[in-house]
Amino acid sequence: MAVSIHEARAAVLEHVTVLGSEEVGLDDALGRALADDASAPNDVPPFSASAMDGYAIVAADTAGGSARLQLIGEAKAGTGAGVTVRPGTAVRISTGAPVPEGADAIVQQELTSGDDGMTVLVDATIRRGMHVRPAGEDIRAGSHVIHAGSLLGPAELGVLASLNIPRPCVVRRPRVALAGTGDELTDPGKPLPPGGIRDSNGPALGGAIHRAGGELNARVRVGDDLEATVAVLRAALRDVDMLITTGGVSVGPHDHVRPALARLGFREVFAGVKLKPGRPTTFAVNDEGTLVFALPGNPVSALMAFRLFVVPALDAMLGRQRVVHPTMATADEELPGARGRTTIVRCRTSLQDDGWHVRPTRSQDSHILTSMLGIDALALVPEDRDAIAAGEPVEIEFVA
Ligand code: AMP
Ligand code: MG
Repeated sequence: MAVSIHEARAAVLEHVTVLGSEEVGLDDALGRALADDASAPNDVPPFSASAMDGYAIVAADTAGGSARLQLIGEAKAGTGAGVTVRPGTAVRISTGAPVPEGADAIVQQELTSGDDGMTVLVDATIRRGMHVRPAGEDIRAGSHVIHAGSLLGPAELGVLASLNIPRPCVVRRPRVALAGTGDELTDPGKPLPPGGIRDSNGPALGGAIHRAGGELNARVRVGDDLEATVAVLRAALRDVDMLITTGGVSVGPHDHVRPALARLGFREVFAGVKLKPGRPTTFAVNDEGTLVFALPGNPVSALMAFRLFVVPALDAMLGRQRVVHPTMATADEELPGARGRTTIVRCRTSLQDDGWHVRPTRSQDSHILTSMLGIDALALVPEDRDAIAAGEPVEIEFVA
C-alpha cells in the first residue's frame, strides 16, 4: 500500500538522528552544519572604535558651531593614541582605531579644516557619540549568535572568526553510497553499445548528495542480477550512514533491489509513494540504523524523490532546521495531475503584480530530464485533481 508524501517524510524522519560532530578549521567549514550554539566570549567590536577618518573630540567643545582644538596625538587602526582627550584637545583618528579615553565623539575629516599639525578647526556642532561604534554594538559578550544546526555560509564564517572560534564544532557529514542498477548503463565518455544509455543518475545524484551536505563515499553500479546486486550493495554499505540506489525497484522480472535489500537484513518502512513521478520509491532500514533509499531509475523520478525524502533525511542527520514556506502561485498554463497521486510539476516562475505565476517546463514525463533544466519551482498538483487549469492557484516550492 503506497503512502502519501507526508506520511513518507514523517516515516523517514522517525528513523533519523543527528550524527556526531567534529572540529574543522574555518577554511574547511563552508557549507557545514554547526553542532553547538556559538556564543560570544567577548564583545564585538571589542573596544569602542571610530567609524570615520577624522578627529576624536569632546563634543561639548563644538556647541558654538566651530572650535579650534589642540592636536595631542594620533590613534591608528591597531594602536590607541595613549593619551586622554580633554576639553580643547583632539586626537587624529582613523576608521577602526580605538576611541581615546576622554573623547565622546568623532568629527569626520570633511567637517574640519586647517590641520597644521598643532591644531585643527572643527566647522560644525558635533553630537555626543557621533561616529563612535560602541564596544559590543554588533555582538554582546555571552549572547548566542549562531544556533546549532545553522549552515555555515560566508557571513557565518566571518562571525565565527570575530568570536575567536577558529575551529567550530560541526556535524559530521553523512557518508552516503550511491548504487546505480541496470544492464543498459554506460558511463559518459565510453562507447555506447547497442541498447545502452548513459548513466545520468550517477553524476546527477552525486551532485545532489554533495549539495545536500552528504559525503559520497562510494559510487558503484551493478547489472540486473540478484546475486551481483546483493554483493555490490553489501560492499557499498560498508562504513556508510545511507545507501541510495537507483532503478530496479519496480515489479519487473529484472528488478532486484528490494529482494537484495531483504537478503542484506533490511526491512522496508514503505515501498511506494503516492507521487508522480517517483511512485516506486522505497525506504528501508537495518538494525544498525543504516538508511536505504531505493529510488526509481528514471532520472527525473530519482531527483524528485531525492528532493522530497532524502534531503529531509540528510538535513535531520546534520541537525539542520530548514523552513519551507508554502507559497501559492497562479498557473499560467494547465498543470497535469494524476488522480490518487500528488504530481510534481517542474516550473519556471515569474513575479507579477498579483503575485507568483508558474509555467511548466516542456514535457513532464519522468524520462525527460531536460524538463529539470532552468526550473526554479516545483508545483504540487494534489492527488484529487486531474489537472490545475490555467488561471487557478497552485502550491509551489521554490528550488534553490
Ligand atoms: P528502472 O527503474 O530500472 O525500471 O528504470 C527506469 C528507466 O530509467 C529505464 O528507462 C532505465 O533505462 C532508466 N534508468 C535507470 N537507471 C538510470 C541511470 N542511472 N541513468 C539514466 N537512466 C536510467
Ligand atoms: Mg532497470
